[in-house]
Amino acid sequence: MLATRLIAVGDIRTIEITMPQPGPGEILVQVEAAGICGTDRHLFKGEFPSVPGKTLGHEFSGIVVDSNGTDIPLGARVTCDPNDWCGECDQCRRGRVNLCANNIATGIARDGGFAEFCAFPAAKAHQLPATLDPLHGAFCEPLACTLHGMDLGAAKPGERVLIIGGGVIGLLAVQLAKLAGCEVMLLTRSATNQELGRALGADLVAGSEDRARVQWPAGADLVVECAGVAATVAMSPGLTRTGGRIVILGVLPTGEHVEIEPFDLLFREIQMHFSFINPFTHERAAQLIADGTISVAPLVTRTISLHEAADAIAEPAPAGEVRAIVVPSMQN
Ligand code: NAP
Repeated sequence: MLATRLIAVGDIRTIEITMPQPGPGEILVQVEAAGICGTDRHLFKGEFPSVPGKTLGHEFSGIVVDSNGTDIPLGARVTCDPNDWCGECDQCRRGRVNLCANNIATGIARDGGFAEFCAFPAAKAHQLPATLDPLHGAFCEPLACTLHGMDLGAAKPGERVLIIGGGVIGLLAVQLAKLAGCEVMLLTRSATNQELGRALGADLVAGSEDRARVQWPAGADLVVECAGVAATVAMSPGLTRTGGRIVILGVLPTGEHVEIEPFDLLFREIQMHFSFINPFTHERAAQLIADGTISVAPLVTRTISLHEAADAIAEPAPAGEVRAIVVPSMQN
């Protein structure tokens, strides 16, 4: 079968490999859709820890073709929670499963969803309706991560929430903040993504830090950084109301530093949280996608084959791209 593998940092290829066999407690899924995430590009560039030779793809869903004695029905559509915590390490025993010392992430540390088939632990499969658009299942993982960030931010009805970054994570965060009953502003530079943000519920949009400050001079109760660049992390405190909260969801390259002023954060008692992956949020994400509460169709900007996936990951996302979805059944 075909799979898109990170051979080494800077070397990604779509190659023919042997069909995976599900091990004990695992199922085999025929992949229907797998999203290319910013983290895949970070992995390619060596900005996020990787394991050489693994098939990438950690945002995917598909149809169970071998339930391997587990209770997941054959033919069911499932989304994979890629993070497989051990349950035994110090962090797991404290309930901080996303910080598991032994997490083996599907699509990073074991073969993932940029492939025709993928085997993964049955316990990490969450069922989706047979009627769901197959492309939509690929959004469960990014939504699960965004849910964790929004849980940390604990937005209350009536609060002002500023989302920075109009990619998938930011546009999902806009929708979650609206669901929480908040007034929402989206700060992102591209006019297209601003329009998309408005269509998905943002009350206000801004193309720059200055424009955001003009609209909310006292700042936001909650700032959610979803761009993953140093400049937007650095601007977050200045856009936060005194006594407010910041959640950083964006991933900066390892080793990158950002200047902040601790006195300002202390004197205005601003809480700054960092949100990492999806502890216990994947089932909620699957439910929100399954019942259509969160709109994901507008986030699909192109569908590509496995043959096109390696280049699409190696190159920066084209202007206006929100999410490219790899569809292994596409031929070319
Ligand atoms: P993405 O598609 O690259 O979106 C990032 C957006 O940030 C872009 O659309 C860009 O839009 C905007 N941006 C960049 N520079 C900006 C600036 N100076 N001011 C305002 N907006 C700016 O990425 P994504 O898939 O949505 O993911 C966002 C980040 O979250 C990435 O770093 C990703 O690795 C991370 N992530 C974290 C987790 C977690 O568990 N914490 C999970 C998944 C993803 P404009 O060009 O319109 O400005």
